[in-house]
Amino acid sequence: MQIDRLVRPNIRELVAYSSARDDYKGTANIWLNANENPYGAKYSRYPDTVQKALRERIAEMYNAEQDNIFIGNGSDEAIDIIIRVFCEPSKDSIATLTPTYGMYKVAASINDIKVIEIPLEKDFKINADNVLSLIQSNTKIIFVCSPNNPTANILDREEIIKIINNFDGIVVIDEAYLDFSDEKSYRELINDYNNIIVLSTLSKAWGAAGLRIGFAFANQSSIKYMNRVKAPYNIGCDTIQEAISVLENKKIIEKQIIETKSQRKGLYTMLNGLNCVEKTYRSDSNFILVKFTDSTKVYNYLSEKGIIVRDRANETNCKNCLRISIGTPTENSKLIETLKDYEKSIVCR
Ligand SMILES: *Cc1c(COP(=O)(O)O)cnc(C)c1O
Repeated sequence: MQIDRLVRPNIRELVAYSSARDDYKGTANIWLNANENPYGAKYSRYPDTVQKALRERIAEMYNAEQDNIFIGNGSDEAIDIIIRVFCEPSKDSIATLTPTYGMYKVAASINDIKVIEIPLEKDFKINADNVLSLIQSNTKIIFVCSPNNPTANILDREEIIKIINNFDGIVVIDEAYLDFSDEKSYRELINDYNNIIVLSTLSKAWGAAGLRIGFAFANQSSIKYMNRVKAPYNIGCDTIQEAISVLENKKIIEKQIIETKSQRKGLYTMLNGLNCVEKTYRSDSNFILVKFTDSTKVYNYLSEKGIIVRDRANETNCKNCLRISIGTPTENSKLIETLKDYEKSIVCR
């Protein structure tokens, strides 16, 4: 597939902002090109526009080429930029598989891009034929979140591949929660399919939500356009350095993931034993979607007791559902205890 053909014409023609430092190939020690304060304050210099040091580390870690990696101020920035690269405002549309992560729709709406919301099927399963039949000729991107937020389940690989093979546009696969699943990354397929863009983030398993670092993996052409559209200095110097050191914590993070999965198992047993719980959905993530008999009452009770969960009751096919992140063993016990107290309080009334 020709990526250039899918790109908005004005972006195809766009001459990106160029910094003198990007253009300069030698080693200089006098920098009089960016109107910076020359007296050596800690942050006096602009950061690297292409985050070379961080991309080198990621390329090494994921066995990818640097030219296939985009670094964003969180994956939220990548989502916005992908939409701006491929979708013509007030003309094109994107498709999302609902219920799903809210930022796809927000980013699209900000850019005046229509959103075709296609409900997932029973137990939030994906059906490729259904998706392919509901998109329109102006649909440029399909956002596939797997494991999906807020439902927590992995979406079927064969169905996703079928969409990739049959859609004449970009398929974004958001893998924010992949580390908590047993699924393989679609990152390995970017050389086989040039219409996929795979998103990843340091915000969830890596424990660095406050840092604001997200990655996109794709063919060189898409990455080139994304870098063209992003703000030149989108990531600060400290953030780049911190991200490199976060990536050193792989061993610790792997242990935490194992702990989270074990907590997840325990939470299912406990939740399924509660009368106020109507159903728990399968989770391949660090959270569980739970259908309660009355989610509003449960939500209010928990929040009175200082426990905040995410109310998803108004999302497609999520009536009475709350999304609960898996916490530490202590936090999870406290949650279950509080839900038991809730049940008693209901009976007493
Ligand atoms: C949390 C989350 C992200 C992460 O966004 P960042 O901007 O990287 O923090 C991306 N996609 C989904 C589905 C998420 O739930």
